[in-house]
Amino acid sequence: MTKSRRIAILGSTGSIGRSSLDVVTSMNEHGTDYNIAYLVTNKNVDLLYQQVKKYSPTGVVIIDEEKASLFRSYLNGEKLKVYSGETGLMEVMSAGDFDVLISSLVGFVGLRPTLEALKAGKTVALANKETLVVAGEIVKRTAREHHATLLPIDSEHSAILQCFAGEEKKSISKLILTASGGPFLHKEKSELENVTVEEALNHPNWRMGRKITIDSATLMNKGLEVIEAHHLFDLPPDRIEVVIHPQSIIHSMVEFVDGSIKAQLGVPDMKIPIQYALTYPERVGSAYKRVDFAKVNQLTFMPPDFDRFTLIKSAYEALRSGGTAPAILNAANEEAVELFLQRKIRFTDIAEIVDEALNSIPSTSSPGIEEIFEADSAARDFVSAGAALNNRNVSERLHK
Ligand code: MG
Repeated sequence: MTKSRRIAILGSTGSIGRSSLDVVTSMNEHGTDYNIAYLVTNKNVDLLYQQVKKYSPTGVVIIDEEKASLFRSYLNGEKLKVYSGETGLMEVMSAGDFDVLISSLVGFVGLRPTLEALKAGKTVALANKETLVVAGEIVKRTAREHHATLLPIDSEHSAILQCFAGEEKKSISKLILTASGGPFLHKEKSELENVTVEEALNHPNWRMGRKITIDSATLMNKGLEVIEAHHLFDLPPDRIEVVIHPQSIIHSMVEFVDGSIKAQLGVPDMKIPIQYALTYPERVGSAYKRVDFAKVNQLTFMPPDFDRFTLIKSAYEALRSGGTAPAILNAANEEAVELFLQRKIRFTDIAEIVDEALNSIPSTSSPGIEEIFEADSAARDFVSAGAALNNRNVSERLHK
């Protein structure tokens, strides 16, 4: 394998970004020579500065201009290129000297820079599932046209990629995505109305960022992952299934035409799929925790409850509608999750708001990138200005 590679991390101060830096350190202790070329953050310049001290990148990008000025004031003769704003970000994505981009910004904002890196023919290890959800066709076409490689970091999709090894496309019958079920797996529908932000952020198995943790509690995360799997593996929605598996030991499965099933297992630790994306199709050693079956005791499964967790159904519907529907679904969800985190709406309002946005905003078929941006804005405006749009349900909730 390529033992020496230059890595850029989009979102280096977030949960996946920090784990990625640990992975690179660990891999280098196991025989690789990976270097950190660029670190990109939105605002967290204090942590960025510590990362610069430790990893000596060629350059950094700070998207927030004010924070970029603050960061420049920290520097003391270090040989470091500092870029800022959207312009600086795009400059590094298109012309920066690196081989692999770890794309781990959260949400829609990851789309443009990820596309830019694909246009430059880079390998993209994708943790930002929203990029594929909103613009899957465009992302794949861009990768194809520019001979860029797209690899998943998301643990379910990494599992499927690992199950695909040595198999032919025609042998695949269906994908089975596993879901932990989140913190509210056993809550009644009526109890979900009053759950708190703290309860929703308390995921039983995974330590992740706030947005994805809320998405895991509503099961929207799994809905987004169904759309992501559709784009990554080219299978129709009726051949992508979801099963609840509370222990999060099986990260996903593939069923083949002969009835055989392959599963990928491991402890729930994002470092393993991050590393696989960086070494694919080969592997290098690690000291990460192993599954101890004497302690696992049992692996259990159940179907998802679409009645309590309706967002997963909305995601399937958006995928089947196609066009800009997934972009509307995603933007409405991002806005609604933020409102919930700000304690302005109830947990169950997230699903209702997303549904209202999907039903109220017309979807455009075969959209170009500008139409996707328009759909994204329309859905955000719909949610934040529910009152102005005279949408009684949304506005009532926003003003509670
Ligand atoms: Mg996942």
